[in-house]
Amino acid sequence: MKNNSYKFLAENNDYESRRQGRTRYTLVRQTDNIKKILIDGAAMVITCDDRGSLKVWRDKSIVVENGKIKDIFSFGKKKVDFEKFDLIYHAYERDGMVVTPGFINAHAHPPMYLLRSSMSLDRGNIEEQVVKMAEFEGKMTHSDYVLGAIGDFTEEQSNGITTTFSHYGSFEAIEEAAKLTKQNVVNAVSAISNSHPKNSIAMVERILKKKDKYYTKPAIAIHYVHRASKKQLLQIKQLMKKYNVIFTVHAAETENWVQECVKKFGNRTIFVLEEMGLLGPNIILSHAVHLTEEEIKLVKKRGAGIVHLPTSNKIHKSGIFNYATFYKHKAINQMALGTDSIISKNSLDLLSEALQTRIMHQDKKIVLYEDLFRMLTCQPAAMLKLGKVGKILPGYRADLSFWKLNDRSFIPYNENKPLSLVGNMITHGYGYIRDLMINGEFIISNRVHNVVDEKKLLHELQSAHMRLRKRMKK
Ligand SMILES: [Zn+2]
Repeated sequence: MKNNSYKFLAENNDYESRRQGRTRYTLVRQTDNIKKILIDGAAMVITCDDRGSLKVWRDKSIVVENGKIKDIFSFGKKKVDFEKFDLIYHAYERDGMVVTPGFINAHAHPPMYLLRSSMSLDRGNIEEQVVKMAEFEGKMTHSDYVLGAIGDFTEEQSNGITTTFSHYGSFEAIEEAAKLTKQNVVNAVSAISNSHPKNSIAMVERILKKKDKYYTKPAIAIHYVHRASKKQLLQIKQLMKKYNVIFTVHAAETENWVQECVKKFGNRTIFVLEEMGLLGPNIILSHAVHLTEEEIKLVKKRGAGIVHLPTSNKIHKSGIFNYATFYKHKAINQMALGTDSIISKNSLDLLSEALQTRIMHQDKKIVLYEDLFRMLTCQPAAMLKLGKVGKILPGYRADLSFWKLNDRSFIPYNENKPLSLVGNMITHGYGYIRDLMINGEFIISNRVHNVVDEKKLLHELQSAHMRLRKRMKK
């Protein structure tokens, strides 16, 4: 499937003609190569600062150059030569915009997007779903995987997500979809996979050998610890070290799977990872529902990353993540949130996941809005070793989400305490983004996706889904 065969790609990238009269863009010069952008006077900028504390700054302009944030200064306090820019984004107009870092989704299975509606979530639990999922995925073609991932990434983008940690069996499909949608992706390929039984550690190593040649950032995944042998776990440890890459696994998602691990290795999940020398800052554990207090203490001590997925855990009846104990042992600063796939979540959005986190744990421990905001931005950036990503500061990657201030998501808020915007955003802010910048390029402008024609993409997804259903009957 070649890129030019996609019928759903947008035909032009004309900022000014889209939604005429309501655009916030002025193209200073006609060029396809926009390198210098001025975001002129954002009403509010919400970000963690250098030390990780959450800030809300009023009336700031942001200069973006060659994909990075170059400067941030107070609106109107500095003489600006507009001619020096390729593009001006008028952030102060019509009651102004709120700018946040693009969110980071720390756990996703993008191609499964094609399976929306395939699972009867009113019956069964995660263990039964996993069996059914693999049957569907076994009938999917390479184009299906790519198309599903494009559906997933573009929905994430509409919800302000600019980086995705993908855990999947087909590296190439994720690579292709990421390149096409311009999504930043850490691409963890399964060495041992339910949906891709032919995958192997040798296959993963062939990818890692060329790791700098890809658009995505390669990483290693396995579905569960108990599916691997001791030998395979040791081989993974060697690959992590040799290629300096991250490893991720679904850890202790259900107690049954913990017991499978006990049966095979004689110990609970975290202790097995520790024994194998895998527990450290380069491992990311998704779910981590059924951990004992001793296991949580060890996770904290080793600096392993945790991805909390409350909606998935609820939908699949997997259990209740022990947030209060993670909090007690000061482990919440190595925690992020994720969407999981579309069969485990209402929409591929992190604000609703943050709200779900708050509601799920409120009887035992209130999860602070500022902690939730860190779990969507700077914490996953650190866990995924992304460098200068996840904050709005000079030198950081220009991944920015633009939200309208005069919107039901924010209004009313306490003007004397603008931090109240963060609580509003998480509690009421579930909704599409106005504009989105990834690597210094506007991917969504005036609520329209610049890379894919959404209407055509949905038609394509619908027909591919029905073709898949037909193949399932055979
Ligand atoms: Zn998952």
